Amino acid sequence: MTASGNSSPRPAAGRGISMPLELASFIGGTCRTDREPTGTSMNPATGEAVATVVEADAAEVDAAVSAARDAYPAWKAMSPADRAGVLLAMADRMEAQGEHLARLESMDTGRVITETRDDVSATVDQFRYFAAAVRTHEDALVWHSDTSYSMLVREPLGVVGVVIPWNFPFLIAGWKLAPALAAGNTIVAKPSSKTPVTLSELARLTADILPAGVLNVVLGPGSSTGAALVDHPGLRKIGFTGSTEVGRGVAHAAAERVIPATLELGGKSANIVFPDAPLDRAIEAARVGILYGQGQVCSAGSRLLVHTDIYEEITARLVSDFQRVSIGDPLDESHEMGPLIDASQVETVSAYVARGTEEGAKLACGGSRLEASEYASGSYFAPTLFRDVRSDMTIAREEIFGPVLVVIPFDDEDDAIRIANDSSYGLVGAVWTRDLGRAMRVARAVETGTMWVNEFNLVPSHSPFGGYKQSGYGREVHKMALESYSQIKNIYVEFS
Ligand code: NAP
Ligand code: MG
Repeated sequence: MTASGNSSPRPAAGRGISMPLELASFIGGTCRTDREPTGTSMNPATGEAVATVVEADAAEVDAAVSAARDAYPAWKAMSPADRAGVLLAMADRMEAQGEHLARLESMDTGRVITETRDDVSATVDQFRYFAAAVRTHEDALVWHSDTSYSMLVREPLGVVGVVIPWNFPFLIAGWKLAPALAAGNTIVAKPSSKTPVTLSELARLTADILPAGVLNVVLGPGSSTGAALVDHPGLRKIGFTGSTEVGRGVAHAAAERVIPATLELGGKSANIVFPDAPLDRAIEAARVGILYGQGQVCSAGSRLLVHTDIYEEITARLVSDFQRVSIGDPLDESHEMGPLIDASQVETVSAYVARGTEEGAKLACGGSRLEASEYASGSYFAPTLFRDVRSDMTIAREEIFGPVLVVIPFDDEDDAIRIANDSSYGLVGAVWTRDLGRAMRVARAVETGTMWVNEFNLVPSHSPFGGYKQSGYGREVHKMALESYSQIKNIYVEFS
């Protein structure tokens, strides 16, 4: 593995930011700093604290839900145009603070700055998109007779609980906040305790734009703060992104109170390459598809399905590419990869690598933590490729959430579809071919929420994102998300 030219560690602090930040829950427009910090969030590249955290207990979660409930009537009563104005002002503020937010996100998650800059721009765009969408979201009228009709009026749900994972804390928060706020709901959001910084910073930066209580952020671990939030009787909806296991518990909690939930969960997505594909682009997408975010991405292209005619060529080229990836300090923009989120994720990924070898897959490169001295301060893991993988192996079935690509050979179109669908997950997938008929047949046959044809992992605003099967339910990013944060009231009017 070669790191690029400049691999010397930089100081932990971002430009002009004094570290560690002192974070506390943001409730009713103010930070609850009246208790001592009980938690910290680490910088995965340095092992140093990015932030100390006053973790919210059940009483503070209750206070946050109360603040959101108090703010709800006025926020709901605002016209869509006025709410859109607030979203646009938030977008402008995020854009103006884009580099600051991206640097904080890189320090808190270990993801490289080129990626976190893209997250901020995409989030700004989400807010602008939903500001526009809510103004064009028209209600409906149903005529029953000349003297009677129904007005179908969309109304918000009330207080929405939002729970966010550590891999894309800012982007995924934006996917929920923008439609939920646009639709007129108020929010209590909980970021992962591993990455509380940017959502807290967003609340702070927009405190003079959003009315107090419309956006509240509670900080703390999932098992305590998160559980208190999803179990709170004041919620009218839960928007959750995270693992399938925790998502199942969230769905139970929602079912107990008969409230809706949107679940964006894990994935084990198939990236299918036929011999007539534009191979250079397919190989590039396969590399980025598993190394982006160090592979800690729900929509990673973690299963590469390659036709037997090109199997040797593709695996050899990918191994060569993997060995040249530039890895190191996430704030250095020449680096393509940073560290995994923490040491426990290294253990998880390493255990999967051992399992892959035991079950007979061939480790073609990588497979372990990077040990060179420049990597000593963080949990850096080598880009890893397994070849000769069968669909029944653990590494082909379970979400590894690390930079580990499994390459599975297939013989023909039916074989590719069968292998792609041999998964409990169904988040995304891709097919690479110049044959349009085949592209459409495969895209229709694979059971996933998104299929790309000759592309991978592009999710611009206005493209729905969400899963089939164990990858969850509900769609985000597209304006249809407004529906999932609204309910329909039928106002039947009789004139006679
Ligand atoms: P996770 O362990 O499920 O945690 C997700 C969030 O839930 C975190 O904020 C966590 O808090 C919280 N949480 C944990 N236990 C909870 C409980 N009992 N009650 C309420 N909240 C609880 O997932 P993760 O490890 O952060 O993220 C990785 C997973 O997310 C992967 O499976 C990945 O595929 C999935 N993901 C899916 C998408 C998508 O759009 N489909 C996007 C990104 C990630 P703490 O972290 O503070 O404990
Ligand atoms: Mg952190």
